[in-house]
Amino acid sequence: MQIAHRIADMKESATLAVGARAAALKAQGVDVVGFSMGEPDFDTPANIKRAAIAALESGMTKYAPTAGDGAAREAIARKLHDENGIVCRSADVTVTAGAKHAVYMALQTMIEPGRGDEVILPTPAWVSYRPLIELAGGVCVEVPGSIDNGFRVTAAQVHAAITQRTIAILLNSPSNPCGIVYPADELRAIVDVIAAHPNVAILSDEIYEKLIFPEIWPGISHWSPGSDPRVADRTITINGMSKAFAMTGWRIGYLCAPGANGRFAKEVIKLQGQMTNSIASFFLPAIVEALSPASAAEVEKMRAAFASRAVLMHRLLSAIPGFRTTQPTGAFYSFPDISQLFGRLSPAGVVIDSAQAFADALLNEAHVAVVPGEDFGVCARGHVRFSFACAPAQIEKGIARVDAFTRSLIMGSAPLPSAPSAAAAVTLRRL
Ligand code: PMP
Ligand code: GLU
Repeated sequence: MQIAHRIADMKESATLAVGARAAALKAQGVDVVGFSMGEPDFDTPANIKRAAIAALESGMTKYAPTAGDGAAREAIARKLHDENGIVCRSADVTVTAGAKHAVYMALQTMIEPGRGDEVILPTPAWVSYRPLIELAGGVCVEVPGSIDNGFRVTAAQVHAAITQRTIAILLNSPSNPCGIVYPADELRAIVDVIAAHPNVAILSDEIYEKLIFPEIWPGISHWSPGSDPRVADRTITINGMSKAFAMTGWRIGYLCAPGANGRFAKEVIKLQGQMTNSIASFFLPAIVEALSPASAAEVEKMRAAFASRAVLMHRLLSAIPGFRTTQPTGAFYSFPDISQLFGRLSPAGVVIDSAQAFADALLNEAHVAVVPGEDFGVCARGHVRFSFACAPAQIEKGIARVDAFTRSLIMGSAPLPSAPSAAAAVTLRRL
């Protein structure tokens, strides 16, 4: 049977692959500490579960309209207007099978294959963006961030990356895998550049918007590019329930495209109608409940827990010899540079010559799962990603293993660097 090159050549999701390997080891009885999955360890708040159960029991078991019912789309449009300043109607919104599906559909709807359409991607960036850009027939143009600039790319870098073939830029603040947040003025400066290029659209993936830590970076807050009237008509805002509401398994995301006189949203919904149709109908009232004030206290409790884990994770990682880190200020990721360790040998004799080799050896020999940096972008090859969406006791236990494993690496030609002090660890410029 034939298998198309565009699927055969596509990389599998590195985050899901490591998660699956860790789960398989756990199933064999191995005591794995998992830092691989970007998945909150909290349970979905009870009021949200109750809304779905009530809908199911009341017989909401039939097909729903492709884009979701009026109540869910209204609730999302209201949220985007009230919280994000995005002027939109419920007709501009579609409820999708996870934010990943929203990213997929937006790119499929936008990219003309075979023409060299370019999508600018500030990196390090989530592992699925490049494959989905390429699957749609686009060219992914990476704009590399640097750990020394808190992983934030500059407006000048974006400006330099724009060509006649650029059709979009994909933004993701707070960022997976960097755990950083763009301050509004820096994001506005990037939007200033896009505003001057009327053929360039903005895809803004805001799935971590509620996981921002002003207790770590005072004054930091979320800003949505779609609220800027200069680019509102060509900004597609993507979000979902997975992260802020601890609903990863529900598979609920959404997309809002108020521009092109509603044409872009209509085309996305047409595509969705030929793919998945609506999400499970009895989940739609759960969206309304999640976005209601009744859920705010639970969301805040989880956010505060992630903030304190961010501090713990940074303190522990900063003390490991050979690790360079930034203090996470959003999402639930830490993305240290471990390239100083390259060239060493693991106790089992594995040459640590890449992030992938480090992550493999760490899992096999110390039973700690992290995601290697390679698939997050060319500039991310010396990094590994730690998700701290797990209990503080797990963080302490897992990082103690990482520390012991790192110290056990047999020196190659260079001496093992000494542990940086917390003060010497790289911190965000504006902290
Ligand atoms: N965007 C980013 C940046 C992510 O990290 C993820 C991972 N969950 C998604 C989108 C997709 O989320 P979901 O499909 O669970 O809504
Ligand atoms: N987005 C999460 C992560 O990066 C979940 C897995 C995935 O879909 O990539 O770990």
